Amino acid sequence: MRKQITADNFNALLQALIDSATRVVGPRRNAGTVLYEPLAAADELVLDELPRRSVKEAFFPVCEDLLAYEKQGQGVQVQDVDPALFPETVLVGVRPCDAAAIPVLDAVFSWDYKDRFFLERRAKTTIIGLACTQADDACFCTAVGLSPNEPKGADLLLTPLSSGGYLVEGHSEKGVALCRSYAALFSEPGNGEPLPLAQPQPTPFDLKRIKAWLDDHFEDPAWDGIATRCVGCGACAFVCPVCHCFDIVDEGTEKAGKRRKYWDACGFWKFTHHASGHNPRDLQPKRYRNRIMHKFKYYDDKFGQTLCTGCGRCVRLCPVGIDIAGVLGEIEKKAND
Ligand code: SF4
Ligand code: SF4
Repeated sequence: MRKQITADNFNALLQALIDSATRVVGPRRNAGTVLYEPLAAADELVLDELPRRSVKEAFFPVCEDLLAYEKQGQGVQVQDVDPALFPETVLVGVRPCDAAAIPVLDAVFSWDYKDRFFLERRAKTTIIGLACTQADDACFCTAVGLSPNEPKGADLLLTPLSSGGYLVEGHSEKGVALCRSYAALFSEPGNGEPLPLAQPQPTPFDLKRIKAWLDDHFEDPAWDGIATRCVGCGACAFVCPVCHCFDIVDEGTEKAGKRRKYWDACGFWKFTHHASGHNPRDLQPKRYRNRIMHKFKYYDDKFGQTLCTGCGRCVRLCPVGIDIAGVLGEIEKKAND
């Protein structure tokens, strides 16, 4: 399905969804920072800036309650959170590097254990992607096999037009159904040309070659050089659209409390700290090695996919300037030597 929508009609579509009590989530400025958040009105949408954190939190929040417990007499009353009550949601303005991350996460959250918290939100969400017409020096989606108009993960993909509106392409039944429900707002394509797409880092990595080097170099002095600056802050994992480690914690007293799921990061010293006191990743280079191994070897071994969409967030936000694209380039060079 290919349609067109004017900028005014796109606003009208979002406002109609909001007015019909559909939860609409999109990039929105909050105290100066653009984040994917619920929109109270269509004009809150910010489309000229990549949100600081990724879209994964629409499905996998930073922190969420799993259950509440309360001791009553000799027994314990347990109240489960019911994912069936999560609302229908439309996610809008999702950049291709974020949308493409969602099917990558599907693999792990629907693997041996079916995570209903993730999967229920996923089933109830329609994703409206937006092709990129601008990239910065940190963007490298094209180097990991994606593109500024990659449709992976999007139910609808919008491409900005010279006329000010958008070309709208349907990539799933959900997306097409959304257009049909508001058919009067769409027209046939023809008014305006697609704006030129962004041009991120032009040279693709040879991910197979990089993986082959990782397969054979778990122990290698190069890791000290590559990772010695990492301070283990975890920022890279928290802003990443595909990092998905979490911890489950009981909080409260012996009388009452909650069980909660929190984001975690393999860059943290405590991540692998055993109750015995032993830590198999006792030094930061081992923890950074795990980050690279997980993204470009382990996930590929298990699910046949790379755990990086080249969004560049970790490059922009690392406090000590570690550039994962640079690290991949170094590894590729070693693989070629
Ligand atoms: S953001 Fe940088 S310093 Fe922090 S854990 Fe990641 S690589 Fe290490
Ligand atoms: S590893 Fe960095 S560049 Fe790759 S998807 Fe995660 S945050 Fe984006």
